[in-house]
Amino acid sequence: MAYVITQRCCNDASCVSECPVDCIRPTPDQPEFATTEMLYIDPDTCIDCGACVDACPVEAIFSEDDLTASLARYRDINAAYFERHPLESNFDPIVTPARPPKELGTLRVAIVGAGPAACYAADELLRRADVQVEMFDRLPTPWGLVRAGVAPDHPGTKTVSNLFESAFRRETLQFYLNVEVGTHISHDELLAYHHAVVYAVGAATDRHLGVPGEDLSGSHSATEFVAWYNGHPDYADRQFDLSGERAVIVGNGNVALDVARVLTVDPEELAKTDIADYALDALRGSNIREVVVLGRRGPLQAAYTSPEFLALTHLKGIDIVVDEAELVLDPGSQALLDDPNVEPSLRLKYTLAEEYAAGSRDRANKRIVFRYLASPTALTGTDHVETVEFVHNELVSDNGQLVARATDRTDSLAAALVLRSIGYRGEPVGELPFDERRGVVPNEHGRVLGADGVPVPGVYVSGWIKRGPRGVIGSNRIDSEETVEQLIADFTTGKLGAPQGDRAALKALLGERQSDLVDREGWKAIDQAEKAAGRSAGRPRVKFTTREDLLKAARG
Ligand code: NAP
Repeated sequence: MAYVITQRCCNDASCVSECPVDCIRPTPDQPEFATTEMLYIDPDTCIDCGACVDACPVEAIFSEDDLTASLARYRDINAAYFERHPLESNFDPIVTPARPPKELGTLRVAIVGAGPAACYAADELLRRADVQVEMFDRLPTPWGLVRAGVAPDHPGTKTVSNLFESAFRRETLQFYLNVEVGTHISHDELLAYHHAVVYAVGAATDRHLGVPGEDLSGSHSATEFVAWYNGHPDYADRQFDLSGERAVIVGNGNVALDVARVLTVDPEELAKTDIADYALDALRGSNIREVVVLGRRGPLQAAYTSPEFLALTHLKGIDIVVDEAELVLDPGSQALLDDPNVEPSLRLKYTLAEEYAAGSRDRANKRIVFRYLASPTALTGTDHVETVEFVHNELVSDNGQLVARATDRTDSLAAALVLRSIGYRGEPVGELPFDERRGVVPNEHGRVLGADGVPVPGVYVSGWIKRGPRGVIGSNRIDSEETVEQLIADFTTGKLGAPQGDRAALKALLGERQSDLVDREGWKAIDQAEKAAGRSAGRPRVKFTTREDLLKAARG
């Protein structure tokens, strides 16, 4: 019997070093790790010890005997990876990372942001050094996209917050929530109170299509919709028109799939989750019966991952629709698929699309329709979106990539709700240098680089503001470890200035400037109140969705 990694895998690779027979791949030091959709266990080598199960922060690993029907296919998915990448194990000894010498004293670090990248960076610092970490977030709640981004019907993914709760239970880490860097404290002040500042602020905004009509009412970014249904206090008052029968989502990444599911699954299923109450009410009154997901390239280039695409198979009362004609591949894509060394995950993406195309349909069901090779050219309507005009694309080779090029064939779809799901985008961080094209702070392995290309002493980045908005939650672990490695090396070699003020002085300063500061006790009070409300309703939690309610709970 072997263990099997399944859909929920967060790629944080905590399991890899725990495996006594080194049978989990790819490992963080392999080139495939950067692009893999998930990690896999070699069934022929696994000794069934279960060490990986205990290490997994999102409960993604099961004994093959315990796989539910919806996860059964992962037995073959794990095995297929090793047919393509036979296990070569060399049992390299695990090297314990160096700790700074004791005589340097306590390392003091400010981390701006409290999402996964910030938390993984803090966790790594706490393991690696005699350290005091102060974590800042402008919201009264921690965990960033784990709370405000992960879809409510993916509760397992949110269990990563338990890992952070347990790592941060000691006073070595202090929360400064509802505190905005740039308003309540400046970057220079932060730097003066610490050896180093790590910005892990994510990618706070979204990208635009740049087509006429994009600003009509009824047209929104998917990131707005996601923040709304997740109860983010800055988005709680948004309105989305759910009165029409069809919604169109532009872009086909995992966010598009999250949004398509939330718009189509039975609201009574969502009622068991931590979705915001107002969103649940709105979805109960929704008339939407069809969601069309428009991808600008073909089925092999779709940005969704195969585990998320596969999971759609198991949605109740929803047909997943693909038109067989759109699966006819261009020569470049066909060559990729015919390559005997094709990645199993890419082949699976195509096989699933074929299965959806051949699947049976029930007229009583709602539908998620995947269209490929289509780009919107305009959104039209009098005061509100009524139609999405689009053009059919063909794929052409450009610098080794297959990119979309418009043909002269056009089409249109009636829709009252259009959500562009074409990626998040980082915003400038105070006065730090900023790469406008990529939406990231220029850096070298996490060390922020000045305009002259030289590292700015004591300033670091981690997560999406460092590498751009890609990768799943656990991808931030390896990313943050890299940043912390540089920070500790700089501390050890005396490149960081000594702090001018201590913890008590910082606390006093912030207490004066932000009377509504939420600390660990405040967050605990919010958390307990939300969970208590959830218990009586049979839900994981009922979220407070306004700052006023969050602050009241924090005080109470
Ligand atoms: P994404 O994966 O980067 O997908 C963006 C999509 O937008 C792609 O289909 C892209 O097409 C398309 N696009 C970009 N510009 C466009 C344009 N001008 N016109 C039409 N289409 C355009 O972004 P995402 O869905 O926001 O996800 C961000 C990251 O979070 C990803 O790494 C994702 O896997 C992760 N995430 C994971 C989960 C999960 O594991 N459940 C859930 C949510 C998000 P091209 O490919 O042609 O550029």
